[in-house]
Amino acid sequence: MTSTHQEIWEKCLAIIKDNVNTQSFKTWFDPIVPVKLEGKILTIQVPSLFFFEWLEEHYVSLLKKTIKKEMGPGAKLEYNIIVENSSGGTKPHTIKVPTQRNKSDDDLEISIPTSGTSIKNPFIIPGIKKVNVDSQLNAAYSFSNFIEGDCNRLARSAGQAVAARPGGTSFNPLFIYGGVGLGKTHLAQAIGNQVKENLKNKTVLYITSEKFTSQFVESIKNNSINDFVNFYQLIDLLIVDDVQFFANKDKTQDIFFHIFNHLQQNGKQLVLTSDRPPKDLQGLEERLLSRFKWGLSADIQIPDFETRYAIMEHKMYADGIELSKDVIEYVAYTMTGNVRELEGALISLLAHSSLTRKEIDLQLAKDILKNFVKQTTKELTIEHIQKLVCDHFEMPVDLLKSKTRKRHIVQARQISMYFAKNFTRSSLSNIGKHFGGRDHSTVIHACQTVQDLMQTDTRFKNKVIELEKLINVNFK
Ligand code: ADP
Ligand code: MG
Repeated sequence: MTSTHQEIWEKCLAIIKDNVNTQSFKTWFDPIVPVKLEGKILTIQVPSLFFFEWLEEHYVSLLKKTIKKEMGPGAKLEYNIIVENSSGGTKPHTIKVPTQRNKSDDDLEISIPTSGTSIKNPFIIPGIKKVNVDSQLNAAYSFSNFIEGDCNRLARSAGQAVAARPGGTSFNPLFIYGGVGLGKTHLAQAIGNQVKENLKNKTVLYITSEKFTSQFVESIKNNSINDFVNFYQLIDLLIVDDVQFFANKDKTQDIFFHIFNHLQQNGKQLVLTSDRPPKDLQGLEERLLSRFKWGLSADIQIPDFETRYAIMEHKMYADGIELSKDVIEYVAYTMTGNVRELEGALISLLAHSSLTRKEIDLQLAKDILKNFVKQTTKELTIEHIQKLVCDHFEMPVDLLKSKTRKRHIVQARQISMYFAKNFTRSSLSNIGKHFGGRDHSTVIHACQTVQDLMQTDTRFKNKVIELEKLINVNFK
């Protein structure tokens, strides 16, 4: 008395049910339809290639054991995979995945589709309308209003390269990372907007990792994982913002891994952002991290003074506002954190001035921003001076403390000592200590040298005056 394929599958399901939770069972096993039994080969039908891959990845050993238990050694499983037809939505047709069984041991082999089958990009279906995808982009973010600076040069130019040829460069994925408020979202969206603008046939989608996660969870609840995956696999440029929030969400990472691979293998572009480099992303699967490193990782740093100044100018210009150079300088010097804070400062200046109908002069700017940044009320220290001078000379503070006798470093060191003596209450020997343990006579010599040079060298004098102005702007 032989069992039918339905009976065998029913028995298998009974075993499987005891081994997976209800939700997984509903999602991954309910939709399976037993098709036929030929000798020791049981054929089951699954709703999509993705579904098949998921089973293979997560339930292969359970399936193997179960089939073997029910059908004995030598049992084999074959899949029929449903692929949507080209009119995109009417009756699906079935593609049979050929199996090969090349080992003669008792282990059950589950067949995996090989190249040369008729399954070629089953989701790239000519009939499916791509134009319907809303890109979720904010049109306000563009390259033209993303100011270039040392802090973002690599990321910005890689972004432009990707926008010009999505999927066509080796920057895939383009992984943009950096601290909050430094412009990751802006840059990622600028790429999306540019592609949308210039390459109208490309489907662009911007999504945060949190939203992706909640959509995925929702699709599990609604039993629509396949729709979810199919949708994402249609995208030509997928931008996922803040991937660090994928941490410890294993199922979401799995599904994202599948989508990522599919897109990449089909020449589609991925742009990812994160608050830290791939190597520091904890709670993310290794295989995903290694994919992240395949393309280009580019960081965005805190902008330097010049870039902050340029960003301020640009924003003012865009908003039709005028501020005096003093004020812009002051804001750019004071707001040393991220760009979002810089914007916040500008907005509060404008709000204040429009409420009180007063011109924003330096004094008003100082008053307003006092509440904004704690550091405006701080007392000038030797460290502040060192930082200011080194920023100006574009060199690391450490060099001031080193033994280097290179001319421009010696000069920066002497100027810093001169300011320290004139603008702080520190003793000469304390100042010396701050410069790599030099003694008080070195400080005296430095101050003398600066004074002498100011008498004889106008360019040097102007430089000192300029720096002095900055100190005044920031600390008086
Ligand atoms: P992140 O995603 O890194 O936290 P955002 O992209 O949201 O930062 O940027 C914060 C704000 O700063 C945005 O309003 C953005 O437009 C602005 N911004 C950041 N970098 C620049 C830049 N280089 N030029 C102009 N605006 C910038
Ligand atoms: Mg962001």
